[in-house]
Amino acid sequence: MIETPHDLSAYHVQIQQALNNPFLRTALGNFASAYKISRQKAFEGMDLQRKRAELASAKDEALKHLPELFERFRQQAQAKGTHVHLAHTAADACRIVSDIARENAVRHIIKSKSMTAEEIHLNDRLEADGFLVTETDLGEWIIQLRHEGPSHMVMPAIHLSRQQVGTLFRQVTGQPLDLEDIGRMVKVARSELREAFLTAGMGISGANVAVAETGTIGMLTNEGNGRLTTTLPGVHVAVVGIEKLVPDIDTALRIVEILPKNATGQLITSYVTWITGQTTCSTNPDGKKIHHVVFLDNGRLRLAQDPVFSQALRCIRCGACANVCPVYSKVGGHTLGHVYIGAIGLILTYFYHGTDNTRAIVRNCLNCQACKSVCPVNIDLPYLIKQVYRRVLDDDREKPIKNRLVSTFMKNRTLFHSALRAAAAAQKPLVDASKGVIRHLPYALLKPEHHFRAIPALADTPFRNMWPSLRYRLKNPTHRVVLFVGCAVDFVSPEQALALVKLAIAFNVQIDFPQRQTCCGLPAAMMAEEETAVDVGIQNLEALDAERYDYVLTLCASCASHLKEGYPRMLRGKVAPVRLEELHRKIIDFSSFMVDVLAIDSDVFEKDGKRTAYHAPCHLCRGLGVTEAPRKLIDLSGNTYVPCPEEDVCCGFGGSYSIEFPEISAAILNQKLDHVQQAGVDVLVTDCPGCVMQLRGGMLKRDEPVPVRHIAEIVAERLKLSQKPS
Ligand code: SF4
Ligand code: SF4
Repeated sequence: MIETPHDLSAYHVQIQQALNNPFLRTALGNFASAYKISRQKAFEGMDLQRKRAELASAKDEALKHLPELFERFRQQAQAKGTHVHLAHTAADACRIVSDIARENAVRHIIKSKSMTAEEIHLNDRLEADGFLVTETDLGEWIIQLRHEGPSHMVMPAIHLSRQQVGTLFRQVTGQPLDLEDIGRMVKVARSELREAFLTAGMGISGANVAVAETGTIGMLTNEGNGRLTTTLPGVHVAVVGIEKLVPDIDTALRIVEILPKNATGQLITSYVTWITGQTTCSTNPDGKKIHHVVFLDNGRLRLAQDPVFSQALRCIRCGACANVCPVYSKVGGHTLGHVYIGAIGLILTYFYHGTDNTRAIVRNCLNCQACKSVCPVNIDLPYLIKQVYRRVLDDDREKPIKNRLVSTFMKNRTLFHSALRAAAAAQKPLVDASKGVIRHLPYALLKPEHHFRAIPALADTPFRNMWPSLRYRLKNPTHRVVLFVGCAVDFVSPEQALALVKLAIAFNVQIDFPQRQTCCGLPAAMMAEEETAVDVGIQNLEALDAERYDYVLTLCASCASHLKEGYPRMLRGKVAPVRLEELHRKIIDFSSFMVDVLAIDSDVFEKDGKRTAYHAPCHLCRGLGVTEAPRKLIDLSGNTYVPCPEEDVCCGFGGSYSIEFPEISAAILNQKLDHVQQAGVDVLVTDCPGCVMQLRGGMLKRDEPVPVRHIAEIVAERLKLSQKPS
C-alpha cells in the first residue's frame, strides 16, 4: 500500500518521484485527451445540463432519507432471502464480512472491483483472518500482486506500462511472456483467475446503486469477472456505501445512463447486472445462493446531514474529476488521493481517513474548476476542497505563516498597498526593465524548482496612482462602467488597464475607478482564510457601488469569477441580498464587453493578421462560461486566431499554488507552452493577468519565446488612428 504523506516535505518527495516517471505522464496525458473526445461523443444529442441537474436533485432527495431508504431496502431484500447489514464503521464492516466467510466455512474468497472495500481495507483484514483473497478485475489483480492501492477509481492500474505488467506476470506465473503482447498477458491472467472462480467459496462485490423499492443492487462492469464473482461461489457479499441507496429503479437508471458515458466515454458498460434477493446457485445443496448486502456508514449518515458537505455523497464514482484534473494528469492517483482519487478523493479522504492523510494532499488543487465542469452530479468540488483545507487548518490549530501574513495585509488596504509600493521601490536595482522581470537576487532565495519561470517585476507606478491623470468625463456615454482592476493589473501590469481606458474612450464608454477597491479576496479564499476573504469582499462591495453602473468590468478572469460566484456564497447573510444580486448581474469580462455589449465592428481596426494563439483562463471559460467572445475578438481586431490543442487546460498558475507546488506548476505550464510554440504563432494572448504572468514567465525561459499579451493590449494596438483618443 502506498502511504499518503502527512506533511508537505514528504509529499514533495512523492510528487517528484511521480513527475520523474515519464510513462505515467504520457499515459495519463494521452488518456486525458482521448477521454474528452469520447465523453463529448457519448453525450452527443443529450441535454446534459438538464440531466446533471435532475440527477443531482434526485441524489440530494435520497440523501435526506437514507435511514428510511435503508429500512425499505432491508424489508424488500430480506423478504427475498437476502441478509442485510448496516456497518457503522470500517472495522464493523470488515468483521461482518469476515464472520460471514467463517460461518460458511469459506477459505478462498474472490472479489470484483469495489472502492468501498478498498476504503475499509477489507483485503488486509480478511488475509489477517486467514482467508485467501483473489482480486478478479484485471486491474485490481495487478495492483493486488504489486501490493498497491488503485491509482484511479475506474482504471486501478492506469499508472502501469505493459512492460511492467508483463514483468510482473512473468514473476507470478513463471511463463516467458513477450512484454509487448498485451493479448497474451490477458490470456495468462484469465487462465490464472479461472481456477480462482471455480474453487472460491465466496464472492465479494461492490454495487453502483441500491434500489430501496425492490431490494435490488445494480453493478456496472466491463469485465465478466463481476458476474462470475457474484454467481459462481455459493456465497455472495456485496459491500455498499449507504449513500448508494436510491428510492426507485427510475433513479437507478438515471445513474446507469450517465455513469459509463462520464467515466470512460462508453455509451454503456459491457455488463449491467441487477441482483434481487437470493438467486439460484447449483453450488449449494439447497440450490440457493447465500446472499448478504453490507451497507457501510463510516460517517456517511452524519455527512448526509452536513449543509456544506452533503453534496459530496452525490458522487457516483465515475472518476471523471480525476480524468480532467491537470494535477492528476501529471502525478497520478497515488499522489492525488489516499484511497479515493482526484478531486473527490481530496474531500472524502478527510471524512473517511482523517486529517493526517488529508493535510498535504488537500493543498494540491489549482482551483481550475475542470473537475466541477464534468461532475455529472454537479458537486462543487473546488469549493469543497477549500472547505476541507479550512477544516484541516482548524484541526491543526496552527496556521501557516503565509496565511497569517495574507490575513494581516489583505484586511488593511492601506497597509497592503503601501507594502506593494515599498516592494516596487526596493526591487528597482534588480529589475530587467526591457523584459519587466526580476533579474537575479530572488532566484538565490527561491528553491531551484521555482526557476521554471521569470519573476515579473512590480510596476514602477501602479494603475491607481496613474488614474488621477487619466480620469475623463464623457457627456453622453453609451455605457457607464466601474472598473474592478485587481491586484495583478494594478501593481504588476497597469499597461493592460491603460489599453482598456484607451478602448473605452474610443468607444464612448465612461469608466470610473473607485480607489477604495482592494484585492478581490480570492488568494485568501484559496488559502482557506475565509474571514479575510469576507472582509475584503465587503470592502469591495462598498467601493464598487454597482447600483450606479451598467457594468462592473474587469480584465482579470479570476477576479471576475470570484466576484460573480464567490461573493454571493461568501457574503450571503452579511450584506443586503440586493447588493450581491446587482454585482452578480453586472460583472463582465473584457472580451464579452467588447463583443457582446459594444458589438464592435472589425472596420475600426487595422488588419494585421498576426497569428494569435489563445489561452482560455479557467475562471473565464469554466467559471464564467465565456468561450466564444475572446476568440471572436482576436479575429475582429484584425489578428488571426490560431487554435492550439488544450487551450482550456489550466496554465498551472493558481496564484500561490505555483509557489507551493512549483514542480507540478512547471510541468503543466511547459506542456501548454509546447503546444503554443508548435503552432508557430506570432503572439499568445489571454484574458487574465495571472495567466499572463505565468505564461510569459515560462516563455522567457525558453529559446525564441513567443510574446504573451493580455487580449486588451492587442485589441487596443490595432485601433485605427481615426478611432484613437487624443
Ligand atoms: S465527484 Fe463527480 S466527477 Fe468525481 S467521481 Fe464523483 S461523480 Fe464522478
Ligand atoms: S479544481 Fe482543478 S486542480 Fe483542483 S481538483 Fe479540480 S481539476 Fe484538479
